[in-house]
Amino acid sequence: MDTAAIIVAAGRGSRAGGAVAKQWRDLDGRMVLARSCAALAAAGLHRQVLVIHPDDAARAQALVGPEMMIVEGGETRSTSVRNALEALATAPPRRVLIHDGARPLVSAALVARVRAALDHALAAAPALPVTDALWRGADGRVQGSAARDGLFRAQTPQGFDFAAILAAYRAHDGARAADDVEIARAAGLDVAIVEGDDDNLKLTWPTDFDRAARLLRARGNAAPDGGPMDIRTGNGFDVHRFGPGTGCWLCGVLVPHDRALQGHSDADVGLHALSDAIYGALAEGDIGRHFPPSDPQWKGAESHIFLRHAADLARAQGFTLGNVDVTLICERPKIGPHADAMRARVAGIARLDPARVSVKATTSERLGFTGREEGIAALATATLWRA
Ligand code: MG
Repeated sequence: MDTAAIIVAAGRGSRAGGAVAKQWRDLDGRMVLARSCAALAAAGLHRQVLVIHPDDAARAQALVGPEMMIVEGGETRSTSVRNALEALATAPPRRVLIHDGARPLVSAALVARVRAALDHALAAAPALPVTDALWRGADGRVQGSAARDGLFRAQTPQGFDFAAILAAYRAHDGARAADDVEIARAAGLDVAIVEGDDDNLKLTWPTDFDRAARLLRARGNAAPDGGPMDIRTGNGFDVHRFGPGTGCWLCGVLVPHDRALQGHSDADVGLHALSDAIYGALAEGDIGRHFPPSDPQWKGAESHIFLRHAADLARAQGFTLGNVDVTLICERPKIGPHADAMRARVAGIARLDPARVSVKATTSERLGFTGREEGIAALATATLWRA
């Protein structure tokens, strides 16, 4: 993995109001931290380390995805980041981007600018020049002004060569630092400035949540009352051939038959097509990408593993499974008597209401390979939505 992301969310700050720390609060129908993680994933950063306060371990379970690691933070931000870097060091990426969990509006374009700058620098971070005049004030009165020339507002994600920032943190004396750039510079690293983004705000005050919600709605990524939902459909198709045996696994149910389906796993053609439909809706490839057939550990695997993984991946990305529909194509065995058992089994695996699961069957009028009873084919569709 080339570039990993660290998402720092161990703070307990409550300047934004409310009893819960801001990164765990709702922002327009979705948790702030879920949005931050999803925004980085959408920008191509799938390997993520989430640094949390130990008290938030239960909350964090809702965010765990297949490529996410949870790490406990320390007393200070720099201890938290150090813990995350050490966790990555066992399988070190080439680069790492370190991001504030309370910046959920980070764009793929900004992430791309930071990554591009790392082609020519060991460290790069986004910032915006200060354009407002700067005052010193006290007791509601202006006490003086300060020059703004050469001043920047720092943002995240701040990007680094992994080995360089790990060495900088290991050499750091543990004193409080404003951000990772300060620690990098203390170790003598040169930090390139890339163009920041005004919308990449850090949620700090209650009014920041209002502004962030407005920006999300303007992007068309809002709650049902504020704009279109993110609705996805995916389809899947699979075929397995018959061989000797006494029954076929179909949609998680062993159906007695005078033959069995052959395959690397249990050859459950229905669950394979359905898993691929969900991966397809997420644009996350297919079963083979997540469970490579070249890996002997999946030989003979029970296919409910694949469907559960696909459904969990959807939920980790903030999606709700709306409904699924599977069509099995074969002359025999007869599916009808088993269809309700299959629906119940699929519902159990994917954690869905059975009313949202359809399993039906058709023959191919004795035409083609299914008509000649050489194998069984399956089609599946899944609908997912995210507010
Ligand atoms: Mg298959």
